[in-house]
Amino acid sequence: MAKAKIALYWAASCGGCEISVLGIGDKILEVVEKADILFWPCVMDIKYKEVEEMPDGHIDITLFNGAIRTTENEHMANLLRKKSKVLVAYGSCSSEGCIPGMANMSNRKGIFDYVYSQVPSMDNPEATRPETSTKVEEGELTLPAFYDTVKTLEHVVPVDYFVPGCPPTEEQTWTVLEAALGGNLPPAGSVVGAGTTALCEDCPRERKEKKVKRFYRPIDIIPDPEQCLLDQGIICCGVVTRTGCGAQCPSVNMPCRGCYGPPEGVVDQGAKLIAVLGSIIDSTDPEEIEKACETFYDPMGTGYRFGLANSILRRKMIK
Ligand code: SF4
Ligand code: SF4
Ligand code: SF4
Repeated sequence: MAKAKIALYWAASCGGCEISVLGIGDKILEVVEKADILFWPCVMDIKYKEVEEMPDGHIDITLFNGAIRTTENEHMANLLRKKSKVLVAYGSCSSEGCIPGMANMSNRKGIFDYVYSQVPSMDNPEATRPETSTKVEEGELTLPAFYDTVKTLEHVVPVDYFVPGCPPTEEQTWTVLEAALGGNLPPAGSVVGAGTTALCEDCPRERKEKKVKRFYRPIDIIPDPEQCLLDQGIICCGVVTRTGCGAQCPSVNMPCRGCYGPPEGVVDQGAKLIAVLGSIIDSTDPEEIEKACETFYDPMGTGYRFGLANSILRRKMIK
């Protein structure tokens, strides 16, 4: 049987998704037995030009991690779409924007002003900024353009499958690779290697009625190890997050941060979280409610840490 041809690529990413692929351990040998890895810039020396020279559809499956932050990211998304039969948005950054997507609270100018002028460690009196083209004695140096807005992979090219998680768990990565190598992928457009319901379904903690007077961050109190964290007032995003990781964080006494994205039927994870929190405040007194809301310190960082670029709050106009 002919070996499958696979590719892996990182766009605007932290590298964690690349490491998660290696997290499958010895099974990587099984992957190499069944597939040729044609392109994986993180671990092998290969040039973009070599991908450009491949016939269209030459690669069977590409795992694309990272968001679209620059013209280079978008160029590679288009190129790999053209060269791949199956394109997978692998991990939260490519599926939803994730941490890079939080930069959408600002824009290119705001980010550059802060990074190249305002940070205390920056010494840049001439306010030099990165340029896409610079003439030097030897010729012209170029850099990719930095967009105003972080986009998801699906914002720029059609995507066949989505693998959520920041990063996806090793079991999930293997499930996807095994299905892809065995030709057992579900219908196009599916979320692969994760469930459809809220994470609470997989969480072993005891749940009671949720009624709280205030909210806590994990650093504020030591939680009861058996009881639902949200019942204790600790903001846990498990109620608005897709199953798939095995409730890893609540299992070690930490609230879920929401990295698997919203469960099926939830359009906007952050808005849903705010609705849930609003519904469990145990008061009808406006002043008490106001005080309880003040203990929810970071609504954007809590509700939109992973999905801002894909949320209903994303920019109306994307330049
Ligand atoms: S999804 Fe998470 S682990 Fe993967 S590249 Fe993005 S930030 Fe890193
Ligand atoms: S601790 Fe979190 S994930 Fe577990 S049941 Fe409570 S809200 Fe759901
Ligand atoms: S518990 Fe939540 S934050 Fe933790 S790995 Fe699972 S989905 Fe991600």
